[in-house]
Amino acid sequence: MFKWFGKVNFSPYTKVTGFAQYLKDGLLMGSRCKECGTQSFPPRADCENCMSPEFDFFEMSGKCTLHTYTKIVAAPTGFEDVAPYIVGVVDLEEGGRALAWIGETIKEDELEIGMDIQVVPRIFEELEEIKVYYSLEKPGTTWSKTDSAR
Ligand SMILES: [Zn+2]
Repeated sequence: MFKWFGKVNFSPYTKVTGFAQYLKDGLLMGSRCKECGTQSFPPRADCENCMSPEFDFFEMSGKCTLHTYTKIVAAPTGFEDVAPYIVGVVDLEEGGRALAWIGETIKEDELEIGMDIQVVPRIFEELEEIKVYYSLEKPGTTWSKTDSAR
């Protein structure tokens, strides 16, 4: 019932594949530029500030507040089968913003701009592909592997 990074064309992908591996382990990671210290989420291969390609991963708390949200009724190609759904943009505690689906722990009528949210990494493993994503959940929601297919 969900998307994964392959589907949303996460890029530049090749230099930040470690990000997906961390998600697989339930860790939400940002990137920190080795040259100027600029932190980015999602991780960037090239610094948005100084364009340096050198970076380290650092773990993020996933704590954030809801910046805005919208209900998608007319879904883009590839997502028609799951509409309607709600996506939110959150302001992360460590800086930066994330766009993700609102998870099942938050009901539509509970959504309020500025409310506390937790970014929760999730994973599907199927054959050769590793599919990871994260959703926006109530604070305190813990990640657990799911083995139910779709
Ligand atoms: Zn930099």
